[in-house]
Amino acid sequence: MPERSESDSRKLLKRLRDSLAEPGQGQERLNRVTHLIADSMHTEVCSIYLFRDTETLELCASEGLLAESVHQTRLRLGEGLVGRVARTAVPVNTANAPSEKGFRFMPETGEEIYSSFLGVPIQRVGEKLGVLVVQSKAARQFSDDEVYALEVVAMVLAEMTELGAFLGEGAALGALHKQPVMFRGATGQEGSAEGQVWLHEARVVVTNPVADDPEVELTRIRAAVGELRVSVDDLLAAQSLDKEQKKVLEAYRMFAHSRGWLRRMEEDIQAGLSAEAAVEKEQSATRARLSQVPDAYLRDRLHDLDDLSNRLLRILTGQGRDTGAELPENPVLVARNIGPAELLEYGRSLRGVVLSEGSVGSHAAIVARALAIPLVIHADGVVVEALNGDAILVDGDQGIVHLRPEESVAAAFRDKIAMQTQAQLRYADLRDKPALSLDGREISLHMNAGLMADLPSLESSGAEGVGLFRTELQFLIRNKMPKRDELARLYARVMDAAKGRRVAFRTLDIGSDKVLPYMKPQDEPNPAMGWRAIRVGLDKPGVLQMQAQALIRAAAGRPLSIMFPFIAEYAEYIDARAYVLAQVEREGALGHPTPETLEIGAMLETPSLAFAPREFFETTDFLSIGGNDLKQFFFAADRENERVRRRYDTLNASFLGLIRQIIDRCAESGTTLSFCGEDAGRPVEAICLAAIGLQNLSMRPASIGPVKSLIRRTDLAALREVINAECAKGSVSVRPAVMEFLAKDAN
Ligand code: PEP
Ligand code: MG
Repeated sequence: MPERSESDSRKLLKRLRDSLAEPGQGQERLNRVTHLIADSMHTEVCSIYLFRDTETLELCASEGLLAESVHQTRLRLGEGLVGRVARTAVPVNTANAPSEKGFRFMPETGEEIYSSFLGVPIQRVGEKLGVLVVQSKAARQFSDDEVYALEVVAMVLAEMTELGAFLGEGAALGALHKQPVMFRGATGQEGSAEGQVWLHEARVVVTNPVADDPEVELTRIRAAVGELRVSVDDLLAAQSLDKEQKKVLEAYRMFAHSRGWLRRMEEDIQAGLSAEAAVEKEQSATRARLSQVPDAYLRDRLHDLDDLSNRLLRILTGQGRDTGAELPENPVLVARNIGPAELLEYGRSLRGVVLSEGSVGSHAAIVARALAIPLVIHADGVVVEALNGDAILVDGDQGIVHLRPEESVAAAFRDKIAMQTQAQLRYADLRDKPALSLDGREISLHMNAGLMADLPSLESSGAEGVGLFRTELQFLIRNKMPKRDELARLYARVMDAAKGRRVAFRTLDIGSDKVLPYMKPQDEPNPAMGWRAIRVGLDKPGVLQMQAQALIRAAAGRPLSIMFPFIAEYAEYIDARAYVLAQVEREGALGHPTPETLEIGAMLETPSLAFAPREFFETTDFLSIGGNDLKQFFFAADRENERVRRRYDTLNASFLGLIRQIIDRCAESGTTLSFCGEDAGRPVEAICLAAIGLQNLSMRPASIGPVKSLIRRTDLAALREVINAECAKGSVSVRPAVMEFLAKDAN
């Protein structure tokens, strides 16, 4: 095979484009393409394998292989050389294919006579579409130029696929972005929603993958990179940055100014690609590398490069973030990830949120919860598949998303939403009724909050007060540390909205998963057990003192409740309390009114506190069990880790034993105790907690109705007997017996 020149490659791309411009159905076009490529590359075989589903590749067109194998030969991802290319997104180039490790012989194709094999991925910005293969009888290694040329062709094929060039009758490819797709992710926030896709970052569509005139494209890419560099420089100049942030952004800037990056894109253009396609080709390569780099720092840098490519594409196409598109009716936000401030900006206008990344404790999840918007996280691939305006169903309870659903699925889903709406109406009827159990115990139900947006729920949910106000949310949604007076005004508004109902303000709980954008990131091996919450507060008391002052000023003579997060030993509580008391004294001395009453409590989130000395229980004004953290430390199972976070049941007899011990110790010292973790809002868990003696539960506002409804239908004393009997029997979890008890009651 002769060496190829750049103009060969350009000629091939032009032929490809012209051929695709001719009329014809999908299959016909694919056949033409394979013929053209084999002819131009001087190989006997050219084949296109495309994904049928995420795991299966199908031979969809071939020049040279036996015609009867087309649409018959299928491979699993990773199977054979083609499957290997698809899985790794790295070309396979060999002079002796049958001797390659993993080679799979497919007799129906008649390929045994071909010795050389070159396969490259067909991908569009990391979206794997298939594999393009050329084969020849002569045993020879393909040159770097040839590999490169085939990659460029694959790039154009990917773009053409995206534009629908291979659709039509007998289509080799399922229509991209047309068929129903289901994504199985994880629950970020429960609830169901039906709506239309709104992409946080609109997809950039490249309509001209092949360059008409490379000189014009070169000028365009150089101008766009120039513009990008200026914008990144401006970005850096506009921020006041600490040393660490500067270092990170400098690396970002360095990429923007990288000669290598521009040179590679220039080479792609010389080979026949348009400026946009060149950017995407390099972006795909970056993404392929991203998935293979284990080092977190390097991955972050590759993310930078990915982000720069997006910016560059937006400059070149004028598309992207501000496309001028209107938010559809019932918008469901689809994004890779989103920051809390951006999500808040959309606010309650959103019906649902679907993220391909995200985590249960991410800031976006916290905000979605505060706004009671159904959220599905880890919906892998959704960003690539969804288009603005697509119909979408979000099942936050199951962590499932249906994109462009079949009518039957949509109808079943609507039934579910209707049932939930009916249930909500029933709960609304209970709003002013007490959570009185059948055996006459009244449980106090409070709500968790953290944003002003939560407060209207105080009225609508019928909560008795705010059992947990997560003050860190106000810090997380800003890009700089809020000032004391700003916080004082905000806390005052919270107390005003509570109209005399109790609000337990938790001091700043940062660190671990809650990282402030303006705080120096701590590189800790185990952040959940690291420098977080009150540990930060005590080591750097400036913020704790400032918060205490803001709360005292906001109370302006009204009653005030403050609690500290993540206290692990008595001494920490004493020290933190001393800081608050000192601020009360200081504020009084400055002539500010001091709170009418002041309660100072602690979150019980580490098992150690259950074993604290009696004095601890006697000194604290109240305690609140942070079940989310307590459970993760009790079972040593990371609450952020999808693999283990559901592994241990809250109704595990040992865990309930720990809770009982805390209840007993509080009873001895007369300390008010509540439970404010997520489990308080799960009806079955909530009645069990109440049955074993918890009197106060604090939960998301939306959970108050369902929890109250079940308490009102339950004999808590009888349930307690069931739990006691199970624990005495040595059962691991009391759940089966509890469910049986509830089922009997329901009959
Ligand atoms: C908890 O740990 O249960 C808790 C309520 O605190 P957070 O979820 O904010 O860590
Ligand atoms: Mg906690």
